[in-house]
Amino acid sequence: MNVNMEPETCEQLLSQMVSFNTVNTPGASTEQPLGQYLDSVARNWGFKTHILPVAGRAPNVLITHEVKSDGKWLMFDSHMDTVDVAGMTVDPFNTKTEDGKIFGRGTCDTKGTGAAMLWALREYAKENTGSMNIAILFTVDEEIGGHGAKAFANEQCQTLDWEPIGIIVGEPTMMTPIVACNGAVRWQIHTRGIAVHSSDPSRGRSAISDMMRVVDAIETHYIPTIQAEHPFTGKAACSINIIRGGMQTNVIPDLCTIDIDRRLVPGEDGKKILPVVEKILDNLRHQHEGLQVEQAKPFIMNGLDPESGKNFSANVRQILERYGYDSTPLGARYGTNGNAYSATGISCLILGPGNIAQAHMKDEWLNLEQLESGIRGYHALMTEPPESWESSVN
Ligand SMILES: [Zn+2]
Repeated sequence: MNVNMEPETCEQLLSQMVSFNTVNTPGASTEQPLGQYLDSVARNWGFKTHILPVAGRAPNVLITHEVKSDGKWLMFDSHMDTVDVAGMTVDPFNTKTEDGKIFGRGTCDTKGTGAAMLWALREYAKENTGSMNIAILFTVDEEIGGHGAKAFANEQCQTLDWEPIGIIVGEPTMMTPIVACNGAVRWQIHTRGIAVHSSDPSRGRSAISDMMRVVDAIETHYIPTIQAEHPFTGKAACSINIIRGGMQTNVIPDLCTIDIDRRLVPGEDGKKILPVVEKILDNLRHQHEGLQVEQAKPFIMNGLDPESGKNFSANVRQILERYGYDSTPLGARYGTNGNAYSATGISCLILGPGNIAQAHMKDEWLNLEQLESGIRGYHALMTEPPESWESSVN
């Protein structure tokens, strides 16, 4: 691959970023070469870079531009991984530009936001008139586990000698601020039976039959009772999306597993979900003697609550409005890195060029006008003097 270390336009930078295959693969470090590339480009442009290790994954890459040693820091985040390329109708890693759109995996979600942030920073630093310190964090593993953002929020952030006033999380929002995101609790439930030869089922106990009772109980007594709702993100939701059980056609199954996805609205606490389901399972245990059912450890990501970063997002929205952007605050039913940051008390807001409808698509693309709009918007936020952010600091 011909690596362009001197991109002359943001579009060239984006094209180069897309050429690195960073399809998220659990347990792998696919983002590493892209991280190294961004690290080199940023250093070429005179920025400091920091490689921040993430357990079991490629590292996050933090790019910093410090203009005042005791000044305020505004931070940006963009994830380097993408979703899979299966079924894509365009070349995923060789961008093409047609009708003002740039096509390729990650152009929209979310290398476009990362390219625009870095380009805006380059312009901001060249002008040399601003007084805000700026950091851009390129994160790993957003699409599946969110380990990059969690590592920053829970460990890496504490190792810095500064604290951001807030984080602008890059995702395609058509440059309209998203202030609320749903979260999720995901977990498995297992039933355990007794495996015997199917010539005499009476000696065994089918984990599949027991699981049918569990599924029925959850769909009858739990899912319809979910009431939580948020004005920005709609209603909470829950569904059972995977079932696995049995090993052989002539053996009574001794294990059956389901996977549940419970979407949280902002303000709901994910830790409170399993205890409610446990009560329903307990009733079942009383009704069916010998029923063995247990819930596994859940993955919990609470939503982004607009209340937590209220002052920061009010400031961002005021600035965007002054530059002619639609600053009506919106909500999203999906989660982002912002969920992890806000869980540790960091204010954040989701903002970036491109339309979420084009993310994850078989012919993913980003409108070049949007890319320009992204650069302009991020640049506006960078140039805003620290005094304007006074009320952001809680
Ligand atoms: Zn994304």
